[in-house]
Amino acid sequence: KIAKADAKHQKLHSEKRKKDNSERKVGNEIFDKLTLETLYKLANQGYIDILNGAISTGKEANVLTGIDKNENFLAVKIYRIATSDFKKMDYYLKGDPRFNIKTKNKRKIIYSWVTKEFKNLTRLYEAGVRVPKAFTSANNVLLIEFIGDETGNPAQPVKNQPPKNPDEFFNKLLVQFKLFVNEAKLVHGDLSNYNILNFNEKPVIIDVSQSVVLDNPISRELLERDINTIVHEYRKLCVKTSFEEVWEYLDCK
Ligand code: ADP
Ligand code: MN
Repeated sequence: KIAKADAKHQKLHSEKRKKDNSERKVGNEIFDKLTLETLYKLANQGYIDILNGAISTGKEANVLTGIDKNENFLAVKIYRIATSDFKKMDYYLKGDPRFNIKTKNKRKIIYSWVTKEFKNLTRLYEAGVRVPKAFTSANNVLLIEFIGDETGNPAQPVKNQPPKNPDEFFNKLLVQFKLFVNEAKLVHGDLSNYNILNFNEKPVIIDVSQSVVLDNPISRELLERDINTIVHEYRKLCVKTSFEEVWEYLDCK
């Protein structure tokens, strides 16, 4: 079925070719040979049965919806080798005691990056943070819980769908933020309303590949940046808060 989905995808793209060249390029990049082989492997292992359309086409990754053999939706995050920022990946990986990579091989760096997102999601989930449950990862592909409704509509990032009650939502977010730092002992590193989904007026934090352990020497700087971003964004939504208030609430040890 993946092969069928891919053929359909390619067909779609060949129809669109005249209209949009850059999109076609992205399409070819998602389904390079190794990515397809990885998807086939995941299909054979029973993780994924059908691959549907894209939810998001980012600079470094594409997120698609899939369906597993029990007809449950899942989110399929596929990292693109060609457009990834290896300098950034190296910077975030090198201070992490869980990873010790001394390679210049771009494919291996991406695979470590995906493994890092998988490990971070698992660690967060076990610490009780509301993140998508991670099912498995293989090479540049990550399979995670789909956040959305039962018809396959994905929850929107808060940036696109602001909360109905920002004060209430912000308080829920702070609870998650505190668990993130104090229980999972991780710093997100790119926390913003782009990476917080509004799932029935409850926050779900996503995109944790760059998240670092508190032991990482860059964690303090990243935490301060995350707090500043959040404070700025929620102030714009008329929530009365400040860096100091959030810092004290998080009660970092
Ligand atoms: P990146 O920003 O690196 O492209 P993200 O992990 O932030 O990757 O995912 C990109 C977008 O895909 C998100 O903004 C969100 O709209 C969607 N998305 C990601 N994960 C899920 C998920 N588990 N369920 C539903 N939508 C998701
Ligand atoms: Mn993101």
